[in-house]
Amino acid sequence: MDIAIIGAGISGLGAAHALQQRHRVVVFEQDARAGGHTNTIEVPTPAGPQPIDTGWIVFNAQNYPNLAALFAELDVPVRPTRMSFSVSLGDGAYEWRGSDNPLSFFAQPGNLLRPAHWRLLRDILALNARCRKLLREDRLPDGTLGAFLDAQGFGGELRSRYLLPMAGLIWSCSPAEAAEYPAADFMRFFEAHGLFSTMNQPCWNTVVGGSQVYVRRLLQRFAGTLRLATPVRRVERAADGVRVHSAAGVERFDAVISAVHADQALRLLGAADDTERRVLRGIPYTRSRCVLHTDRSFLPRRRFAWASWNYLHPRDEVHREPISGSYWMNQLQGIASETPYIVTLNPRRPIAAAQVLYETDYEHPFYGPASVDTHRDLSAMQGRGGLWWAGAWTGFGFHEDGLKSALAVVARLDPHCLPTWAVLGAAPSPAAAAPAAGALHAVAVP
Ligand SMILES: Cc1cc2nc3c(=O)[nH]c(=O)nc-3n(C[C@H](O)[C@H](O)[C@H](O)COP(=O)(O)OP(=O)(O)OC[C@H]3O[C@@H](n4cnc5c(N)ncnc54)[C@H](O)[C@@H]3O)c2cc1C
Repeated sequence: MDIAIIGAGISGLGAAHALQQRHRVVVFEQDARAGGHTNTIEVPTPAGPQPIDTGWIVFNAQNYPNLAALFAELDVPVRPTRMSFSVSLGDGAYEWRGSDNPLSFFAQPGNLLRPAHWRLLRDILALNARCRKLLREDRLPDGTLGAFLDAQGFGGELRSRYLLPMAGLIWSCSPAEAAEYPAADFMRFFEAHGLFSTMNQPCWNTVVGGSQVYVRRLLQRFAGTLRLATPVRRVERAADGVRVHSAAGVERFDAVISAVHADQALRLLGAADDTERRVLRGIPYTRSRCVLHTDRSFLPRRRFAWASWNYLHPRDEVHREPISGSYWMNQLQGIASETPYIVTLNPRRPIAAAQVLYETDYEHPFYGPASVDTHRDLSAMQGRGGLWWAGAWTGFGFHEDGLKSALAVVARLDPHCLPTWAVLGAAPSPAAAAPAAGALHAVAVP
């Protein structure tokens, strides 16, 4: 078959890698580089160029079985990373860090004397114990996370100083929106990622040399055609296949796989039907400014409170502003340098130009209760008139979702191309998905 794939992120590249074995594959990518949200920047340093990831960063074998298997096939070098989470409020007036070192909970020694900080500790432990009990007994509550916290009588510290900022970073939403997340999905997700305990945490990894390494290895093995800087403008079904309109002209294919975001896919479809419009409009996207820089004031004031990912806010409140957080890339990627390399999402104040190394915008899907209906209807759309749909948006927005969606299309388009290691299973659930668009996770609370 002649197959076109639109988009060279993990979803498009994953599909291309499998299908090229038996088909003529053409990948269209609008950017001048392949990778999509896999976006490593080479930063010049006195010791030579330092690759730093700005989009996709971490994975673990437990929650990302397909990605781990693909990396094993490609022999992608990975290294374990340390995951931790900090909160810094009021310009450092209140700080703590959750990590594998229990002392970091008192990174600000004055907190030893603050009853509210001890209350936070008590509530974290109580939350963990109660949620795990409900999960064990299969008695997950209906309703939102906020309603659950109210019903259980948890204090305000748990919301504004821990749970909702962390959930907001994981799901790329404000703390107030995180409180609207379904409580049952929240519990399954936290349990699957070992976030209710210091024990049994998955081993998180980053790619040695930056995430671009796996993209390069995929491209080295790709025998089809990759058209960079070639945006697809329109896709239309025809009697003899599907026509793709791009700067390369109008070409006919037997099948086309859309591996772009849902809203982008809708814009490409000249004549979308009602189901396609409903499904592709059903996934809202949030846009985040992402800045790679060296301004340490975007990390907690106390050095001992620096974590892999850090939530800073001027006020102690559950707000509705875009979530802002900083990844400390030295820790995540094992960069031995006195210069802190920081990726900040939605910086709340300007960063001096001299300290900015790179900036871009990322758009990522936001998942709410309505997404469940959208995902259900998607299945009926697959393959209609030769058009197939892949992308992290078809799951919960993570890398594993993107790859899994590509493999699910391959399984139906030509099962002979499906890798032996593919794990498809049921529709992705929050518990099967992984870290956040715009955030990392895993905090070992004391
Ligand atoms: C800052 C950030 C950090 C993240 N960290 C993690 C993480 O640590 N772990 C994790 O699992 N997930 C993470 N994510 C989520 C990440 O978005 C997904 O993991 C995944 O990379 C999305 O893959 P995709 O293939 O669906 O989309 P994309 O990677 O966005 O790829 C879509 C591609 O389609 C191209 N395209 C769009 N329109 C056209 C067109 N008309 N013609 C041709 N090409 C087109 C785009 O240029 C792009 O290359 C993070 C996201 C962000 C924003």
